Amino acid sequence: MLTPEGSTTPGPLARRLTVLSGPSGVGKSTVVAEIRRSHPRVWLSVSVTTRAPRPGETDGVQYFFVDDAGFDRLVAEGELLEWAEFAGNRYGTPRRPVEERLARGEPVLLEIDLQGARQVRGTMPQARLVFLAPPGWDELVRRLTGRGTEPPEVIERRLDAARVELAAEKEFDVTLVNTSVQDVCGELLALMADQ
Ligand code: ADP
Ligand code: 5GP
Repeated sequence: MLTPEGSTTPGPLARRLTVLSGPSGVGKSTVVAEIRRSHPRVWLSVSVTTRAPRPGETDGVQYFFVDDAGFDRLVAEGELLEWAEFAGNRYGTPRRPVEERLARGEPVLLEIDLQGARQVRGTMPQARLVFLAPPGWDELVRRLTGRGTEPPEVIERRLDAARVELAAEKEFDVTLVNTSVQDVCGELLALMADQ
C-alpha cells in the first residue's frame, strides 16, 4: 500500500485534528450525519471515493465520487492526505481543505478507515484517534445487514474487515461505544472542543 508522502502539515497544528474510525456498520456515517445536522458549523472533511453513490447520497456532501482514473490522478499529484482501499473501493482525504483549517487553528474531523487512521498516526502524531466500537459483535452484524445497502458478498467482505478492525482498538487514544448516536455525538464534540 502506498502511503502519502511529503505532508506539509507541521506537527503542532495537527493537535486540532480528530480521526473517527471503527468497523464498517458501527455507525460512523450516522454519527457524522447527526453532527452535520445538529452542528452545521462543525467542518467535516468530505472524502473522495471510487465507490458508487448509495441512494440518497449527493456528490460533494457525503463524498466526492470519482472514477479510477480521477483517483489515480489525485494520488499522483499528492492531493490526498491519506488514502486506502477498502472492500474493493478506494477512499481518500483531500489534503488542502484539511491543512488550511488546521493552519487557522480550526477543528477538523475525519471519518476514515483503520488503514487511513494509521497513516494519519504516522504523519501527524498529534492528531487524536477515536475508535467507534459497537455494543457487541451481533449488533454490528445486525447493523451492517440491516442497512440493506450491500449485497451478501460485500457484507461478508466488510465483516472480515470488521474482525481485523475490532482488534485495532488499542491503537486508538479514545474508545466511544455507539449505543446512542446522540451520546456519541456529544462525546465526540466535547473531545473536539478540548484540543
Ligand atoms: P458505518 O458508517 O460505520 O459503516 P452506518 O452509519 O452506515 O455505519 O450505520 C450502519 C447501520 O447502523 C445503519 O442502518 C444505521 O442506521 C445503524 N445505526 C447507527 N448507529 C446506531 C445506533 N446507535 N443504534 C442503532 N442503530 C444504529
Ligand atoms: P462506506 O463505503 O461505508 O461509505 O465507507 C467504507 C469505509 O471507508 C468506512 O470505514 C469509512 O470510514 C472509510 N472511509 C471513508 N472515507 C475515507 C477516507 O477518506 N480515507 C480512508 N482511509 N477511509 C475512508
